[in-house]
Amino acid sequence: MSAQELHQMGVAELAAAIADKKTSSVEAAQHLLARARQHAGLGAYLAFNEDLTLAQAKAADGRVAAGERGPLLGVPLAHKDIFVTQGFPTTAGSKILEGYQSPFDATVVAHLAQAGAVTLGKLNCDEFAMGSGNDNSAYAPVHNPWDTARVPGGSSGGSAAAVAARLVPAATGTDTGGSIRQPASFTGITGIKPTYGRCSRYGMVAFASSLDQAGPMARSAADCATLLTAMAGPDIDRDSTSLDHPAEDYTRLLGAPRDGATAAQPLKGLRIGLPNEFFGEGCAPDVIAAVRAALSEYEKLGATLVDISLPRTELSIPVYYVIAPAEASSNLSRFDGVKFGHRAAQYDDLTDMYKKSRSEGFGPEAQRRIMIGTYVLSHGYYDAYYLKAQQIRRLIAQDFQQAFTQCDVIAGPVAPTVAWKIGEKSDDPVANYLADIYTLSTSLAGLPGMSVPAGFGAANMPVGLQLVGNYFKEGELLQTAHAFQQATDWHLKTPEGF
Ligand code: GLN
Repeated sequence: MSAQELHQMGVAELAAAIADKKTSSVEAAQHLLARARQHAGLGAYLAFNEDLTLAQAKAADGRVAAGERGPLLGVPLAHKDIFVTQGFPTTAGSKILEGYQSPFDATVVAHLAQAGAVTLGKLNCDEFAMGSGNDNSAYAPVHNPWDTARVPGGSSGGSAAAVAARLVPAATGTDTGGSIRQPASFTGITGIKPTYGRCSRYGMVAFASSLDQAGPMARSAADCATLLTAMAGPDIDRDSTSLDHPAEDYTRLLGAPRDGATAAQPLKGLRIGLPNEFFGEGCAPDVIAAVRAALSEYEKLGATLVDISLPRTELSIPVYYVIAPAEASSNLSRFDGVKFGHRAAQYDDLTDMYKKSRSEGFGPEAQRRIMIGTYVLSHGYYDAYYLKAQQIRRLIAQDFQQAFTQCDVIAGPVAPTVAWKIGEKSDDPVANYLADIYTLSTSLAGLPGMSVPAGFGAANMPVGLQLVGNYFKEGELLQTAHAFQQATDWHLKTPEGF
């Protein structure tokens, strides 16, 4: 099998080629490792362990030789560097964890490994997943393969760039306020954030625990379904917020017409709700145009479009930027120079050691959020900010429940613009926060959401269509995205030079 063919394959094709012995897991891993080195300039990867990767690939080839077949058996994947992984360093994109080696695997990583996937390496991300452009990584910015002068989105920017540049067929990401959907949109790939609690957070370095969710990023909805099937499921003993809901096969609805639909109109009967707040002045016309064109395609597939309202959309920004920093300030207190990671070389006493270790270890955005979070949780401000934000969070969730009485799926843009230039928003945290307007409310409500490649906008950069479903409707969301991908080829486009 030619090298070119190897990296052009998605998860399904590669798994089939390995099972049919047209290639081997070792051959695929070697090729993709070489390719990652060749494109190191993208900044997508932070760490490799070639010996371990090849040992895992050899073990997978052994299972294939013994007659086993599996949708992930032998397939190389890479993990956002926020998942702890035995044998690889885990930094969460921060200097404070530089050189940290976990003694165990995150549950999500372990589940994918049990399914026979091979870990190719660890992927760059914004420090502690705080960011929208992957320019908050303490190590290097990640470049968007569609235009290397632009950001790939964040915080799962390494995952998005690696998949888009065909360095790896699929990757894990995490989404606290948009970090799977927005980078997927910016790089023309597919990503899904499941219902909060669907994937275990055990072994995922915590940013904002009531929002953090793991999910897959791949070229197609079908490949995302395969990964999510392995990743999701209860893990109550190790993550008390993991949902006690049996694992399910997310591939089961792919290609199946909805009840009462036909092969020509597989989505007949599907009501797609369009929140008017997502299509207003704040969204760039090129993004709206691509999203509208995708929605017309959905009408051809039998869906009907319904106007809805999510009236508290605008409030999701202040609410999120109170709750997420509050939780982050608490979660990041564990990095004190004693138990994990970086400790200052010189200090006078214990307090000085904490201060110096944390000042040296945390970058500007992490420090900003620790300060905001500590402030909103402090006596006298707790009721005014944190409690108030929690109350509005509940109202935001209720808006969605109201909307779901009128529609089955909600659709709109993922982000108000295409990917911006690296550095453009680096000195303006508020500009970054505002760019999260269409993704935050889904996270605050704990709902599943995804980004589906829907065309190109300004500067020929990819635009994603966001689909949001009600709790536990990941299967229907993936079905809805898959039907679109059967009719269009946006998800198959490859950036030039890759
Ligand atoms: N951009 C948002 C933030 O900076 C979301 C990040 C995320 O989902 N991890 O917090």
